[in-house]
Amino acid sequence: MTEHRHHRGGEWPEHSAAFEVHDPYTGEVFATVAACDQNDARLAVEAAAEAFPAWAELSAEDKATLFLRAADVVERRRAEIAETLARETGCTIFFANFQQDLVKQELRQAANWVYLPKGEILQSNVPGTYSTAVRRPLGVVASFTPWNGANVLAWRAVLSPLAAGNTVVVKPSELAPISAGLIVAEIAEEAGFPPGVVNVVTHAPGEAKAIADEFFANPTVRCVNFIGSVKTARMLAERAGRALKRSVMELGGYNPMIVLDDVDLDYAVRTGAFSAFFHQGQICMNARKILVQRGIYSEFVERLAERARSLPMGDPKDPATIIGPLITPDAVATVHARVAEAVSAGARIVTGGRSDGQVFEPTILVDVPDSCTMSYEETFGPVVIVQPVDSADEAVEIANRPLYGLTSAILTGDTYRGFELAGRIKCGAVHVNIPTIDDEIQAPIGGVRDSGWGRTGPYSLHDFSDLIWVNVQSGQRSLPGAAFGVAARPL
Ligand code: ADP
Repeated sequence: MTEHRHHRGGEWPEHSAAFEVHDPYTGEVFATVAACDQNDARLAVEAAAEAFPAWAELSAEDKATLFLRAADVVERRRAEIAETLARETGCTIFFANFQQDLVKQELRQAANWVYLPKGEILQSNVPGTYSTAVRRPLGVVASFTPWNGANVLAWRAVLSPLAAGNTVVVKPSELAPISAGLIVAEIAEEAGFPPGVVNVVTHAPGEAKAIADEFFANPTVRCVNFIGSVKTARMLAERAGRALKRSVMELGGYNPMIVLDDVDLDYAVRTGAFSAFFHQGQICMNARKILVQRGIYSEFVERLAERARSLPMGDPKDPATIIGPLITPDAVATVHARVAEAVSAGARIVTGGRSDGQVFEPTILVDVPDSCTMSYEETFGPVVIVQPVDSADEAVEIANRPLYGLTSAILTGDTYRGFELAGRIKCGAVHVNIPTIDDEIQAPIGGVRDSGWGRTGPYSLHDFSDLIWVNVQSGQRSLPGAAFGVAARPL
C-alpha cells in the first residue's frame, strides 16, 4: 500500500485527512491519498499564480527542454506507471502502454508548441503606427481530469496550457488521483519544471465541489479546462459563465460506426472489436452503435460475436488480458441496468451480458428499440449495439440522430465513397477505414454539438491565450479635433 500527498508550489505538504483508492479488480485498498479541502485548493491556486510570471517569461528553449526531459522520465518509469494505472483504474497493461506511448509523443510535440504562438503586424489607417496583435497566456488554468484514459488525458489537460505559458492546478478524478494527477506532478518535478508550474489538488469522493468552488471564486483562475461527462460539464459550464471564466469542454459522445457492404469483412470485424471493446468500453471514443448494411449484417454480427467471446478477460495486470474490470461496482450496475432495460424492450443479447466481479463480458445487442437509454446515451462498458441499415443514406441519418458529436467511423472498400460520406457526419472526427478510437495530438481532437468545444495540442493554444492589440505610434499622433483644443481634423 502506498501513501500519496498532494502537490503545490514544488512541495508535497502533509495532509490532515486522507481517502482510500481501491483496485477495481481485487477490491483491495492499494493507496491512500490526501483529501484536500477548499483551503488547499486556494493555496495551490496561489502557488500557481506566484509561479506564473516567471514561467510565462521563461524562454521557449528552456520550456522545450523540460517537455523533452519529461518524455524521457515517462520512458524510464514505463513499467511502474503501467502497473499503477492497472491497479488504480483497472486498465490493461496493453492500454496502459498505449497511453504512455501517446504521452511520450505529446510531450515531445509540446516541445515545439512553445514556438507556435505567433503575433501579427497589422495595417494601420494612421501613418507612423506600428499596430500588432500578440498572444499572451491567461494566467492560472484549472484542469479537471477524468479516470478513464487517466494518464493520457491528465497530460493533455496540462500540456497545452503550459505550452501557451500558463501555470496549472490539476483536480484529478477521485477515482484516479494518482494516474490522473499526481504522476504528472512527480514527472514534472523530476524533469525540473519550476515549483508551482504544475500543482495537483486531490480530494475524497463527493468533495469535488469544494475544490471547484475555489476555482470559480478565485479571480486568479482564468480558465476551467474540463475533460469528463456531459452531465458534470453542463453544471461547470454554467458556473464558468456566471464567473465569466473561459471554459474548454472535452466531453463524451455516442459514436457511430458505419459498415458498408463493400468492406473487407475480416478487417471490419477487427476494427469493430477494437472500437467497441478497447478499455472495456470506457473510452469516450468507443463505438456505441455499429450500423451495418443489410447484405453483410448477419455474418458481421456472427463474426464480431465470435471475436468478442475470444477476448481474454480478467486481471488487468496480466499482460495477456484484453478485458479488465469496470471502474466501480456502480459502473457494473449501470451497465446491467441498461442491458436489462433493452432486453425487456425486446432486444436480444447475441453474446455477453454477464459479469464476474467488476469484469463485464464483451456484449453485443441487436434489435434494440430507439427508446432504450442504451440506444442514445453513452454507456461506459463493453456493450455495443449492432443494427442493420438498407443504405448508406439511412446509416448517415441514424448516425446523426444523437445530439452528441465526438467521433465516428466509416468502413468501406471504396475509400472515395467513405470520403464523400465523411462530410455528412456531424462529429468532431470522422475516420474512414480507421477505428472510432484514434489519437494523434497534432490533429484537432474534440467534439461538436453536445460533445463540447475546444481542441487538442497546437489547435488549443488559442483557447489558453489572449490575443492583445499592441499599438505603437512613432512620434505624436494627430488627435481628433486636436483633442478638443484647436483645429478640427475630421476622423
Ligand atoms: P466520469 O463520469 O467520467 O467520472 P465526471 O464528469 O463525473 O466524469 O468526472 C469528471 C471530473 O469532474 C472529475 O474530476 C470529477 O471529480 C469532477 N466532478 C464531478 N462532479 C463534480 C462537481 N459537482 N463539481 C466539480 N467537479 C466535479
